[in-house]
Amino acid sequence: MDSAFRTLPPVHRLLDEPALATYIDVLGASAVKAVVNETLSGARRDIAAGTLPPIAYDALLERIAERLANEEAAGLMPVINGTGILLHTNLGRAPLAAEALAAIAAIGGSYSNLEFDLVNGSRGSRYARVSGLIEELTGCEDALVVNNCAAAVLLVLDTFAKARDVIVSRNQLVEIGGGFRLPEVVTRSGARLVEVGTTNRVYLRDFEDALTPTTALLMRSHASNYRIEGFVADVEPAEIAALGRRAGVRTLEDLGSGALIDLAPYGLPHERTVAEALADGIEVVTFSGDKLLGGPQAGIIAGKRDAIMHLRANPLLRALRVDKATLAALAATLRLYTEPDGVERIPLYAMLAVDVVTLRARADRILGDLGLGPLEARIVDTTASVGGGAAPLAPIASAGIAVRPPGHDPDAVAARLRRLRPPIVGRTKGGEFHLDLRAVSAADDSRIVAALRREFAS
Ligand SMILES: *Cc1c(COP(=O)(O)O)cnc(C)c1O
Repeated sequence: MDSAFRTLPPVHRLLDEPALATYIDVLGASAVKAVVNETLSGARRDIAAGTLPPIAYDALLERIAERLANEEAAGLMPVINGTGILLHTNLGRAPLAAEALAAIAAIGGSYSNLEFDLVNGSRGSRYARVSGLIEELTGCEDALVVNNCAAAVLLVLDTFAKARDVIVSRNQLVEIGGGFRLPEVVTRSGARLVEVGTTNRVYLRDFEDALTPTTALLMRSHASNYRIEGFVADVEPAEIAALGRRAGVRTLEDLGSGALIDLAPYGLPHERTVAEALADGIEVVTFSGDKLLGGPQAGIIAGKRDAIMHLRANPLLRALRVDKATLAALAATLRLYTEPDGVERIPLYAMLAVDVVTLRARADRILGDLGLGPLEARIVDTTASVGGGAAPLAPIASAGIAVRPPGHDPDAVAARLRRLRPPIVGRTKGGEFHLDLRAVSAADDSRIVAALRREFAS
């Protein structure tokens, strides 16, 4: 058994192996050493237990390399999004505009006047700069920014509806991705959920009948990821807003996706904008920063001055507040909406604006550069979508490439492309591997060619 222990190589020899040394740059020397040590200890335990034959050097090396690869894959890194879903929550939703990135670099890398009034030399407001822009873009009286839209809803409920009633229509008790279920959010915030109407038909009188002295809030939620069709009746938001005013009850609309502009010019169905919700008289509107706004993760609360003042005074805000990098990126993104041709500099809108003919031409060029036969790869017309709970049902004409891996299944291709750096993420469909080019930067086309060439060469 002693000789078996002696077959195990010393740590330094393993660390000198090029296959392991490449990980030192990404993971750091101590992390690599720790994995080597752990794997060696495991091998020593196996020998001591006498259950397995002593591991061969190459097998040991492979075992360590696999563990390091898994550890590296767990790190955060850029990914090429070939799924055709523009706001893919699992892939980080909206990529930021160059202006937003520059703002993060400028503000994040130094001290700033985040909460400092340079004119008076006194404490200033963290939110004042962005709220001005949000007012200009939505017509709200005041605004507040928190960590994400879920936090925004929570703050509103905690401020106005704790231990009181929130009336929501049954056709809006949504679950969106990532564990956000409206009934649970309402309940967890300490408010009482009062459901009115039915799944398919809701009338204003349902809301009126449910009003009691303990009613705190009439709440609407955006039906962002589902549709009820057929025998339906719904209440107009403006009617809810008017009822709220008549009854002296606050109104909240959780828009979620938060469009600031009309999406019709991008060939998408009209998506209710923040300005429209406010114009309908809704007191408080909540929406995300990283959905249709195209900015960083944030939750924006726009509304009437008096309502925002109460929200600002809630101590919970301290726990939900955004950092300087987020505020810098958000302000830079919002500023683009105020500039001529600024919206096209927001990556989401640049991607939406690309003509499908251009995408087909890119797919054609990729196929040409790949030099594969028609049985191995082809151009496909695909259907992209905005995703992220924003107009997710609306198909966007798109194009990409489909590869038919000779002899091995498309899932294997998908797995291998995920192992590339940057990883390429696509979809498997009908025995093929599909890469939709709508959310792929044209600058990445050559990377895709190189990666697929290697994949098909081997
Ligand atoms: C996406 C969404 C949320 C949650 O937004 P986050 O910014 O991810 O917290 C809440 N409500 C609706 C209607 C949404 O679509």
